[in-house]
Parts: sequence; C-alpha cells; structure tokens
Amino acid sequence: MHPFTYTRADSTRDALDAGRRGGRYVAGGTTLVDLMRETVERPDALVDISALPLREVTVTRGGGLRIGALVTMSQAAAQPKVRTLLPVVSQALELSASAQLRNMATIGGNIMQRTRCAYFRDVTAACNKRTPGTGCAAREGYNRTHAILGASESCVATHPSDVAVAFAALDAQVHLLGPAGRRTLAFSDFLLRPGRTPHREQALKQGELITSVEIPALPRPLRSGYLKVRDRQSYEFALTSAAVALHVQRGVIREAKVAAGGVGTVPWKLSAVERALVGQRPSDRLWAKAASLAGEGARPLQHNRFKVDLLERTVERQLRIVGESS
Ligand code: SF4
Repeated sequence: MHPFTYTRADSTRDALDAGRRGGRYVAGGTTLVDLMRETVERPDALVDISALPLREVTVTRGGGLRIGALVTMSQAAAQPKVRTLLPVVSQALELSASAQLRNMATIGGNIMQRTRCAYFRDVTAACNKRTPGTGCAAREGYNRTHAILGASESCVATHPSDVAVAFAALDAQVHLLGPAGRRTLAFSDFLLRPGRTPHREQALKQGELITSVEIPALPRPLRSGYLKVRDRQSYEFALTSAAVALHVQRGVIREAKVAAGGVGTVPWKLSAVERALVGQRPSDRLWAKAASLAGEGARPLQHNRFKVDLLERTVERQLRIVGESS
C-alpha cells in the first residue's frame, strides 16, 4: 500500500484546511480503503471527517428533506421521514451493498463511490479513469455490465450507486462547503459524464466537502419506489434499475419523476418517459408506451445489448407497480 498520513478533523475548519492542502476526505471508508489496498487509489494524506456534525435528517422549511452527508445508509433507510415521504430513497438504500456496508457507508460517500468496472480495479489493465491516457480495456474486453447511455470513446463504465438514481429522479441538490464558501449544485450537475476526462467524476473543487443532499418538496400524495434487477438477489450491483415517483390527482398523473441505474455513466434521468406520463391517465398501455422511450439514445456494446430491452421492461414494471398503488 502507498504510504499516507492520517488526520482526524475535529471541526469543519480543520477539515477544510486539510482538504485545501490536498488531503482526501474519508468517513466510512468502504470504497476508498478497498481501492487503496488494491493500489488503485494512492492518496498521500487522508482526512477523517467522521466527527463532523453532518448526521441529521431534517425536513426543510419548504417541506423538502435534507440528509446530512455523514448519515449512514442504514440510518437514512430507517429514518421514519425518509420511509414515509420517499420510499424510493429507503428502498434504493436497502437494496444496496450488504448490511455491514450499509452500517458504515455514508450518504456523501455513496454518491462519491467509484465504478465497479473490473478493469478499473485491475492495475495491470488499460484504464483512462484510473490512469488518464492509457486507453479503455472494457471497450474491446468483456463489457456485459457496462454503460449503454452517456459513454464516450474514453470510458464506458456505469455509476454504481442505487440511491443516486433516486436522487437523480427526484431532482435533488448537493450542498457543498469549500475554502471559498458554500454552494449548491443540482444533482444532475454534480456527477460528470466521462467525455475525454473520465478521471473527473464529480464537479467538486479542491477541498470541497459535501455537507448534505436535499430533496425538494414534492406534491402530495406522492407514491414512489425503486426496482433493481441484478444477477443475484443480494450484495450485487444493478444490471438495470428504475426509480419512480408519481403524483396522481383525480385519476390523472400530474407529476412524474423517473430515472434509471445500471445503464448510464451517471444515474440516468428519463425525461422523455416523464413527459410521456404527465397529463395522462394510468393504464397498462401508458406504462408500456412511456417505458418504450427509456432506451432513447442507447449505444450498446458487444456484450450488453440485452440491457436496452431489460431497461424498458424494468421501467415498465416499476411504473406499473407504483402507478397501480396510487
Ligand atoms: Fe477504465 Fe472506464 Fe474503460 Fe472501465 S470503462 S476500463 S473504468 S476507462
């Protein structure tokens, strides 16, 4: 393992000072420490932020929900406000990783986690994300689990988070604190598509810290849920997934929030599906028609053509599940 220094930050100021000097923030450590052991990540300095006061889940004045960056996945999933107001978030969390990991991993760390592309984790393989300019072994290699949406010549890796799919669907915002002060990014701007710089995965500036993720107020009643399709029923990443939230009033869909996971280089907002739903009356025909738009723009690779059809069927099924409970 590459040698590194370890500092525990007792205050936000200490953390920001260390971050400004190039320290890497760590909390649960469930991704970063693994990658350090494999020498994929080689930070010189770790800054432990787990003592910072970022562990609250609160309802905002406007009626939204703010989840502190250091709330663990299991705490967030069990939080009564999350379970009641946004089951899509608690379901996405509970279908992620394992119970042990959910007890350690934080919400901030979850959306920062790095891809599960096997070539990224194999330091002998060409990988532009790990070592810029070396190529992409997955393009010509075994790419069954890779992205069909949002890929570039440089990288075709999927984003692995489940809860990030729910956040994308719900148009969440990410609150940041850095040496230059506070700022807020739309979730859709926080995670970056690979383009020519796949090693840049988030729109973070040097030393910036995630303080919370906020889900804006949504009309009530809102029914929501998360469906994950994977090779085994536990401790596995999504081949496809769908986060759906619907507000139905007097038999008409007034608002629809839909995103997909397992298929994009970032959680994939399905705007065309949302537009096809709003103003319509729920029906089997509508679910099928809207879901048929989910794969718009897909560019499958040699081994993942099945994902286009699987994505449409995943979205259709989850629209029906949520729509019929409305
Ligand atoms: Fe690396 Fe991305 Fe290619 Fe995987 S898909 S080998 S992460 S460049």
